[in-house]
Amino acid sequence: MDEKERVFQERLKKLRDDYTARLPTFLDALDALAKTLETAKTEDERRSALEGIQSDAHKLSGSGATFGFAKVSDDASILEQLAVATLQGSSGVSSTIFSQITQILEDIRAASDDSPKQTDTLTPPPNRPLQDGDRLILIEPDPTQARRIESELSNFGFKIERLTSPRDLIAALEHKGVSAILWDSDFFGENQSLLQNNKIGDALKKFEIPLIFLSENSSTKARLAAVRAGCDAYVLKPFNSAEIVDILDELTDKREANPYRILIVDDDEDMANFNKVILEQAGMIVDVISNPLTLLEKILDFTPELILLDLYLGGCTGIELARVIRQNNAYTGIPIVFFSTETEQESQLDALRQGGDDFLTKAIGHRKLVETIAIRAKRFRSLNLLMVQDSLTGLLNHTATKQALETEITRAQRTGTEVAFAMLDIDHFKLVNDTHGHQVGDWVIKNLSRLLKQRLRKGDIVGRVGGEEFALVLPGATEQDALTAVNQMRIAFSDIEHQSPDGEFHCTLSGGIATYPTNATAMALTNAADQALYEAKGNGRDQIVLFNADKTK
Ligand code: GH3
Ligand code: MG
Ligand code: MG
Repeated sequence: MDEKERVFQERLKKLRDDYTARLPTFLDALDALAKTLETAKTEDERRSALEGIQSDAHKLSGSGATFGFAKVSDDASILEQLAVATLQGSSGVSSTIFSQITQILEDIRAASDDSPKQTDTLTPPPNRPLQDGDRLILIEPDPTQARRIESELSNFGFKIERLTSPRDLIAALEHKGVSAILWDSDFFGENQSLLQNNKIGDALKKFEIPLIFLSENSSTKARLAAVRAGCDAYVLKPFNSAEIVDILDELTDKREANPYRILIVDDDEDMANFNKVILEQAGMIVDVISNPLTLLEKILDFTPELILLDLYLGGCTGIELARVIRQNNAYTGIPIVFFSTETEQESQLDALRQGGDDFLTKAIGHRKLVETIAIRAKRFRSLNLLMVQDSLTGLLNHTATKQALETEITRAQRTGTEVAFAMLDIDHFKLVNDTHGHQVGDWVIKNLSRLLKQRLRKGDIVGRVGGEEFALVLPGATEQDALTAVNQMRIAFSDIEHQSPDGEFHCTLSGGIATYPTNATAMALTNAADQALYEAKGNGRDQIVLFNADKTK
């Protein structure tokens, strides 16, 4: 058992132990309610005791099986149904009810003395290498070639470590955070045996690091040899660095552990925490709330990709909450999975009709829980991408950027922080198209978008809002922060050597920055940033200008 699995099992055991330890107190409370019911003088008192029994029995039936007490769950469910039937019946509380309830409570008590049965366990997800930075290893004996690749790729934010021989590879891999290996395989012939026989191949597999061969040889034979040596991509010389960056994006994207974000809403904290541990072990990021009134704020903060909603919560039902979520346009797509002990077809249908996407019973096995949630979250993510992504660059499209800006302003209003907004526009881009053709123009756009993505901090947002226009939303950034950051992007962009059939060329960009709360709405921010951009163009381009309200007066 590896360390991660051990920690997981320990957390589960602790939750189970805690639950087992609390069970007697919980049953005492139910006994007390039963006593109250028996000695109640008025119908109101009886009803209130019955409602207490129903609610407690409901919780117990939900959590029992999860913590390994299946019989407790079953009995509690019978108790719950009895309480419901009595509450709904017209004849009031009859005396036979007491003995029935007492009997069931005794059964539950007896079942709770059994030691909990461990439900199915999970195999932990495969260990993925951590993506610490973007360190590339370049195996390139030719110094001129190496310098070119190094300088071009560093424009995209990659750090290059150059090796002159593959023999040094293993030692280099031992350092953390290697994203990929670029290997000039024209020296491959003599090194082939290195890959096949010794530890290098094993090390590459172990670290799951993409291997990209650079070669002049376009023959099938050479490619085949490369595939056999475990290469993930094969790039023909002479190559365009942007090509390599594209491949790197694709290869590292695929491997990137990009965990699903799941929000659990459950007033039973034992259950919520237990499911949190299960989902976290499966690699997801989980947040829990027990107070439904904080839900909308939490969605804004946490941006879940799925909400696991308890069907019965203190104070309101999950169905009502689902309707509240669905009323909010921005949240209409988030999958809602109801989670309850409810086995009745009719309430399940009702829950689905009210905007739920799926229905899980609390006694579900871990594996099924993880799978159901992962499938839903995955579908949401890919549909969402289709809706919000610009197809050329993969950045947010115009609408999604606008929406993101609105969201960040709402958040900033609440937290009293600043938001910087920048509009960027490539200079004389029409000329690029006219000189080098539209396709080369597209490359320039992609190069810029990649650069922007790589330069952003976590939480920053970048969108392509027009042909050669980009917008940045930088939450928490002051004017000066933004100016510094965006200027660095501007300089890095102007350093990129774009390739075209007619030779290499450079481009520049201009930008305008405005901040919230100086500009209080998304509209005001956009206008202000636009105006600053216009000024940057007028001042001769290749510069970033801060919006200055005084100048407009
Ligand atoms: P300025 O410095 O004032 O921004 O000059 P500019 O030439 O960049 O500005 P203008 O708005 O006149 O031209 C933008 C050009 O961008 C015109 C359009 O053909 C081109 N363009 C827009 N979208 C795309 C695209 O997706 N691909 C390519 N290759 N070109 C595009
Ligand atoms: Mg332009
Ligand atoms: Mg333009």
